[in-house]
Amino acid sequence: MFERKSFQHHYEGAMEPFKIIGNVYYVGCFSASSHLIDTGDGLILIDTGYADTLHLLINSIYQLGFSPYDIKKIIHTHKHGDHTGATAALVHLTGAETYIGEKDAESAKEYFEPDVLLKDGDVVQLGNTEIRVLETPGHTIGTISLFFETAEKGKIYRVGTFGGAGANTLAKGRFDYPDCREGYRASLARLREETVDVFIGNHVWNNDTEAKAKILKETGENPFIDDELWCMFLNFCEKRLDDLIEKEEEQI
Ligand SMILES: [Zn+2]
Repeated sequence: MFERKSFQHHYEGAMEPFKIIGNVYYVGCFSASSHLIDTGDGLILIDTGYADTLHLLINSIYQLGFSPYDIKKIIHTHKHGDHTGATAALVHLTGAETYIGEKDAESAKEYFEPDVLLKDGDVVQLGNTEIRVLETPGHTIGTISLFFETAEKGKIYRVGTFGGAGANTLAKGRFDYPDCREGYRASLARLREETVDVFIGNHVWNNDTEAKAKILKETGENPFIDDELWCMFLNFCEKRLDDLIEKEEEQI
């Protein structure tokens, strides 16, 4: 659980696209997740992935029977290139509107021109979908987490993503901003208050996307429906930060 894989080239992490639940689809690679929501009035894309996996993203969208030209809104969980790298080219192709957390907007301009700057409590609405935005700084100052509902077989499920779990920017000398560790802990505390039935990771290792996709395909049972994984992952993130600090103290 929560284990990573690394590749020499990002495109080696290509994954078969699939429906996660309701109107939510996986269209990313192993290294960086992208999720597509079919709102009935156009598509919302959450994170675009690396610049050099754009062709895989586009192929995945077509493979599922959608068209990238129907993407109306692209929401970015944070500014880093593994989530925003393909955005400029995708906007050039589709004209989609781009969204990012307000505090990440300036530095995101390295990758694309943000249209809408999101703040805590904002709602992004399209068709049948309303996505609530929570500011969860730490990994970057402008990291946002997203929550929305989807329906399947007459049931409503709450879908959630933690927009920036990575501890790489919490290591000494690599901080995105001062007090990021305290910010990260405060974000974890806020995220624990959220009820999440279906946790979608913004990296595959966050929620074991690949293994779950296999189970879903082979058995028809949906392991993405799991109301315990969300808090398990948040606890894992907190412990990883504790371990990081402990290691640093040992080195002094
Ligand atoms: Zn990042």
